[in-house]
Amino acid sequence: MISALMPTFKRADLAFERGEGAWLYTADGRRFLDFGAGIAVSALGHGHPRLVAAIAEQAARVIHVSNLYHIPQAETLAEKLVAHSFADSVFFCNSGAEANEGMVKMMRRDQARRGHSERTRIICCDGAFHGRTIAMLAATGNPAYLDGFGEPAPGFDHVPFNNLNMLRAAITPETAGVMVELIQGESGIKQADAHFIRGLRQVCDEFGLLLAFDEVQTGMGRTGKLFAHEWYDVKPDIISVAKGIGGGFPMGAILATEEVASHMTPGSHGSTFGGNPLACAAGNAVIDAILAPGFLEHVQTTGAAFGEMLSLLAKDWPEIFELARGRGLIWGLRCKPPVGEVLNAALHEGLLCVTAGDNVLRLVPPLNVTNEECREACLRLSRAAQKLTDAMKGASE
Ligand SMILES: *Cc1c(COP(=O)(O)O)cnc(C)c1O
Repeated sequence: MISALMPTFKRADLAFERGEGAWLYTADGRRFLDFGAGIAVSALGHGHPRLVAAIAEQAARVIHVSNLYHIPQAETLAEKLVAHSFADSVFFCNSGAEANEGMVKMMRRDQARRGHSERTRIICCDGAFHGRTIAMLAATGNPAYLDGFGEPAPGFDHVPFNNLNMLRAAITPETAGVMVELIQGESGIKQADAHFIRGLRQVCDEFGLLLAFDEVQTGMGRTGKLFAHEWYDVKPDIISVAKGIGGGFPMGAILATEEVASHMTPGSHGSTFGGNPLACAAGNAVIDAILAPGFLEHVQTTGAAFGEMLSLLAKDWPEIFELARGRGLIWGLRCKPPVGEVLNAALHEGLLCVTAGDNVLRLVPPLNVTNEECREACLRLSRAAQKLTDAMKGASE
């Protein structure tokens, strides 16, 4: 008989009762080091006092009022995002896919209002992940995700990641813009080349296209800058954000330049829940922590140290780990055995990770993780590698 909870996820046989920092505890008292952070969501770790207090206090005052009224918490959060980014205006929603949907609408609307209503198509990259809604499935383009869900939504073209010539060749009179990730997370922590991203800006300017970055996973400090595109010195027209922005409270956002945002007049887009007082109280607590002096530097230095530890780990266990790649606190360890086996072995050592494509183990700890905890994670990975090696030897004997 089917479970009451629809079986769309293959779940580990574990449930957590509480968390503290980078640690999660089961009801029977077992302790796990959380380097998955709920899929790069729990930016401040678990039980962060200021985040918890902000949510509790706001929940006691008022949780939701709708966007029919002013929401001071949303205005404050938008002002902070605008003050610290390329953007002039922000729209709040509730998830990554929803942010990307809205982003595509805004790209089309901008083209239409500038007299190019024929420009509706978005160029995306192979290996992309943009979410699971009908349109974002088509933008993602992964055949496995599309299977059984009918005709993919029209309007999305795909080119190989990091290939500027192919992208240029894919532009048609119907192209509205380009949507890419700075680091493809879901398909295995693959970084965009500086040459590609800078070239995209030039190509978009040349053809009058919009440049959109999906920063759902890379935004909000994950790479050591507030947004990953800052590393490239490139100014986008619009970006989407989600995952870490609410520190675990469901939230998404679209950040746009005035040019793009100015076409989004009352009634043009909406969300019942988007930017409600509770979500924005969480968002404000998170961004205040991220923008506090030293926080992003901590992500950079801890991330760099963690990357070095992972590279050494890969050298120590060449039969298990092929290489480490990433930036800030988003790292991938490419595995030799099936990554699912490595994930399970790590789990047995009390370390939580996430898998990604290309047989990669994804390590995305809370952004306030300590150097010590990174060292501990590597120790546990090393123990997992030892067990896997022993099992492989045992099987071949
Ligand atoms: C997770 C993710 C999404 C989808 O976000 P949801 O909140 O699950 O809808 C979209 N794009 C990227 C890059 C992501 O990592």
